[in-house]
Amino acid sequence: MKESMAQLLAVQQLDRKLMRFRREIRDIPARKEALDQEKASAEERLNDIEQRQRQNAAEQGNLESEIESLREQIKRYKRQQLDVKTNDEYRALTHEISAVEQKISQLEDREIELMETAERLNAEHREARERLDDEEDRIGAEKEALDRRLEEVQRDLDEVSARREEKAAKVDKRTLAHYKRIFDNRGDYAVVPIENGVCTGCHMKVTPQTVHDAQAAQKLVACNYCGRLLYVPADHRTS
Ligand SMILES: [Zn+2]
Repeated sequence: MKESMAQLLAVQQLDRKLMRFRREIRDIPARKEALDQEKASAEERLNDIEQRQRQNAAEQGNLESEIESLREQIKRYKRQQLDVKTNDEYRALTHEISAVEQKISQLEDREIELMETAERLNAEHREARERLDDEEDRIGAEKEALDRRLEEVQRDLDEVSARREEKAAKVDKRTLAHYKRIFDNRGDYAVVPIENGVCTGCHMKVTPQTVHDAQAAQKLVACNYCGRLLYVPADHRTS
């Protein structure tokens, strides 16, 4: 039984490795997904700036045509002034012209604001473009590293699986089935040492009889609380 305990511990060591490998393999797609997400938000920042640039250009275009039509208006008023009969009519048109000129001047101020905004947006766009390029490089490299890591872990998994099967073949079938049930159930360890009278799987104090039986190692001894198989490590043995 001492021997089969040592074999179980060897199997468990390999099962723990396999568990870590499987977990890593399982998590890689999510890590790649998170990287894609980072790239998408860098793209979104750039798209957002481009959207504001388009709005700005559209508003500038509208202002220009509005200013253009106001200038036409002034020309019409000036032509009318040539035909008026009275000074009052002439003055009224002069008044209209200066109102339109004032309006033009307001629109031109707004146009200057928009041009300044456009310059700022251009600078923001350059910066966001550079940042996106950097992000794309970094993310591409990280995804490639994850792909390489996946291949590596897959290889390790295959290799350790084969070693595990070799070790497991030395354990009798019922003992192995018992071990496997506990390992799958507990998800961490099926075989644990007793230290200072305590099961290190569940940290409960076991009975002196359990300690004695585990130390004698004539049969498999399970913890009364968590069901894990128990052994007494060499440096904890009392004789
Ligand atoms: Zn326990």
